[in-house]
Amino acid sequence: MSERTHVDLQRKAEQIYARLNQVYDEPVWRPHRPPMDQLIVTILSANTNDVNSGRAFRQLMERFDDDWDAIRTAPLEEIKIAIRPAGMYNQKAPHIVRTLEMIYDEQGGYSLDHVAEMPVEEALAYLTRFPGVGHKTASIVLLFCFNTGSFPVDTHVQRISQRLGVAPRKSNPEQVKRIWESLLPPETYYALHINLIRHGREICRSRAPKCEVCPINGLCDYYGRSGEWEGKG
Ligand code: SF4
Repeated sequence: MSERTHVDLQRKAEQIYARLNQVYDEPVWRPHRPPMDQLIVTILSANTNDVNSGRAFRQLMERFDDDWDAIRTAPLEEIKIAIRPAGMYNQKAPHIVRTLEMIYDEQGGYSLDHVAEMPVEEALAYLTRFPGVGHKTASIVLLFCFNTGSFPVDTHVQRISQRLGVAPRKSNPEQVKRIWESLLPPETYYALHINLIRHGREICRSRAPKCEVCPINGLCDYYGRSGEWEGKG
């Protein structure tokens, strides 16, 4: 990427960020779930929506009385039943148990508070060692729980970034993450993440995006090329 292109992209990213804050208001960071809860619920969220992963998490905690030790030592089949609403329970159940085992072996308990003290890259590397935890899951834990400068990229963020021309069309989520992180400072990540997801749900939908009413269509590389989008989101 040339210096000129990077400067242009930086300006564009700043304008997108400002415009989304104007339209949707700037979300202010507040602590979300406790870090352990957030880690497990994000493991559950792979390939499903927030409603299903939230329901699976509640069922898991109710069945085992909010006791991580009980979950770690329970028969796998019982965990699968509890998390069934999240789907892919044959993979997710062992991922959860193995993650709890690793944390327990290291900490003698179940806390991720020490992650708050780590530099971002170290924290990312630490969290992505757990099975079922990729950069998106790890970044969500870091951003939502600690407001740490790691930008999570889900399907909404990836799709919009590519359509806007901030990221190349064939870029993978980790590349999209790195591009945004090179363009904007960490204190913008929370609001940008929340607003891009809202924008993806309400306007820049996978199929039939509402380009005509989109408040950032003036900044979008592909605005006006309707018909190119179908099936390519
Ligand atoms: S103009 Fe269309 S494709 Fe571009 S960001 Fe807006 S809704 Fe998405």
